[in-house]
Amino acid sequence: MLLLGIESTAHTFGIGIVNEKGEVLTNVKDSFTSPDAGMIPDKVAEHHETVAEPVLQKALQEINLSLKDVNYIAYSAGPGIDPCLWKGYHFAKKWAKEAKKPLVGVNHCCAHLSIGKVWNKLKDPIYLYVSGVNTQIIFEEAGKYHVIGETLDIGLGNMLDKFARLLQLGFPGGPKIEELAKKGKYIELPYIVKGMDVSFSGILTKIQQLYQKKISKEDLCHSVQETCFAMLAEAVERAMAHTGKKELLLVGGVGANKRFCEMLGLMCQERKAKFYNVPLDLAGDQGAMIAWEGYLRKKQYGDIGVKPHWRADEV
Ligand code: AMP
Ligand code: MG
Repeated sequence: MLLLGIESTAHTFGIGIVNEKGEVLTNVKDSFTSPDAGMIPDKVAEHHETVAEPVLQKALQEINLSLKDVNYIAYSAGPGIDPCLWKGYHFAKKWAKEAKKPLVGVNHCCAHLSIGKVWNKLKDPIYLYVSGVNTQIIFEEAGKYHVIGETLDIGLGNMLDKFARLLQLGFPGGPKIEELAKKGKYIELPYIVKGMDVSFSGILTKIQQLYQKKISKEDLCHSVQETCFAMLAEAVERAMAHTGKKELLLVGGVGANKRFCEMLGLMCQERKAKFYNVPLDLAGDQGAMIAWEGYLRKKQYGDIGVKPHWRADEV
């Protein structure tokens, strides 16, 4: 069985094809970037419109298939940026009609979790999901996801992107902050953990103020990473202690950060647990994860339109 997945919730338009074992056969994407601005919803939707057909053709050509060869077409129904979701849904409907294939609308957050789980062949991990908009600690029980901790305001990726915009590093900011952080030294910042929840907006305000006071970019990048990653390591360690789970899986775009992985790896080592992440090409948004989530949900969901505020724990 083959499933084609379409991702379009935010910066990335992606098409992936997987089989019933969760093996990724092709995974092509084109992401909106900007040298000076953030994501302007209509601009990002325009980007998706322009790249959709070429991305589809490239994905199919890579494995020498046509749209007719896939059994299902899965798309990211939400959560995400409204115009971007509609764009993806529009192409999903168009291609499903052309190829006469059933649609499966899936939850983007669950897709991040399930691709990480199948790639690492895990049974029952605690998930730390850290992307642009989302920062959540999640576990599964009785066939449902439960969010046991999360950000009380903005997602860590968005926070890093906002700070990067002030530093004129362009979008996405996370990778550039990671580079600058290597040359910086630690200065103390607010540290905000409430049980298993975290908060980043006060830290953002503080680093913006410190930047105006001429503290170096490098020191601020280093310190924001050390502080926010330590906060999440503390919160997720508490969640592991609470649930008794011995496997931690990091997913989402911020999971590409090597220092973050190092800190979580050390925390797991100290409590005799195991740390897992996903390879770079499966960490951020892409179509393969949507295809695999489509495989898991094909009996549950069909053409469900778009759901901009759909949470993982509502699936
Ligand atoms: P996603 O929405 O899952 O694709 O994740 C996108 C977010 O990941 C953006 O906010 C990026 O800035 C962030 N990101 C990507 N690479 C890195 C990195 N190396 N370090 C920190 N954040 C990153
Ligand atoms: Mg994502």
